[in-house]
Amino acid sequence: MAGLLFGTGGTPHSAKTASTIDGIKRIAELGLGCMEIEFVQGVKMGEAGARLVAETAARIGIKLSAHAPYFINLNAREPEKIRASQYRILQTAHIAAICGAQSIVFHTAFYLGDPPEKAYNAVKQSLGETLSQLKRENNRVWIRPEVMGKLSQFGTVEEILDLCTELEGLAPCIDFAHWHARSGIFNSYQEFTSILLQIKERLGTAALDNMHIHVSGIAYSKKGETKHLNLKESDFQYKELLKALKDYDVKGLVICESPNLEEDALLLQVTYNTL
Ligand SMILES: [Zn+2]
Repeated sequence: MAGLLFGTGGTPHSAKTASTIDGIKRIAELGLGCMEIEFVQGVKMGEAGARLVAETAARIGIKLSAHAPYFINLNAREPEKIRASQYRILQTAHIAAICGAQSIVFHTAFYLGDPPEKAYNAVKQSLGETLSQLKRENNRVWIRPEVMGKLSQFGTVEEILDLCTELEGLAPCIDFAHWHARSGIFNSYQEFTSILLQIKERLGTAALDNMHIHVSGIAYSKKGETKHLNLKESDFQYKELLKALKDYDVKGLVICESPNLEEDALLLQVTYNTL
C-alpha cells in the first residue's frame, strides 16, 4: 500500500447528501484519500448499491473500509446473540467486499463482568468460526477488531494483538484516541511509538505496512471514553501521533472520527504532510 491515507468515518458533513456515493465524491473533492462506510446501525446497503460504490471509488481513486454494526457481542450469554453477532460480521464483510473495501472494523464484545481471560476465550472461539466461514466464502477482506475506549468493553491493545497473533485473517484496528481514554496515558510520541513497536514485534513489519487507524479528540473519565471531541477541543496529542506514524513509516488508512469529521481529517493530513 502506498503511504498513509486520511479520511472520515462516514460521509463528510459537507457532502451533497448523506449517501455513501456522495461521501466518496466529497472525499475526493477535499483531497482526502479514504472513507469508512458506517454500517453501525445495520447493513442496509444491497449488492447492487455496493457495486455502484465500488465503481465510484475505483474511478476516483478513493480507498474504502467499512464499520460493522454496533450490535455485536461475541461474549454474549445467549447463543442466539452470538450467532446474530457473527452474522453481522459476515454480512458486513460480504457487502464490504463488493464495495471493494479492504477492511472491516468491529467492536468485539463486552466483558459483562467476566474475567478478561474468559471473555478472550469466548471471543476467540466465535471469531474463529466466523473467520473459517469467510475463508469458505473466499472473502479476503481484512477483519479488524477495534481497540476500545471503555473499561467495560473487550479490546485492550494487548487483547487485540493476541487475537491477531492467534487467528488467521485478523488484523488490528488501532484506535489511538480510545486507548488514550482507556489508559489515561498513551498520549506522547514515546508511548505511541511503543505501540507501533509492539505491533511490529507481535505481527511483523507487514502489519505496519497495512495499518488501520482511528483518531479523534476524546473526553474520558475513570471508566474510559465518554465521548468523541474535535481534536483542538481535546487533550489528544495528534501531532505526536502523526510524527510517530511518519518516523515508523506506517502505511494504511487513518480514519478520523471527530464530530467535525472532514475538518479534523484535513487537519491530520495537512499536519502529517508538513512534518
Ligand atoms: Zn468503532
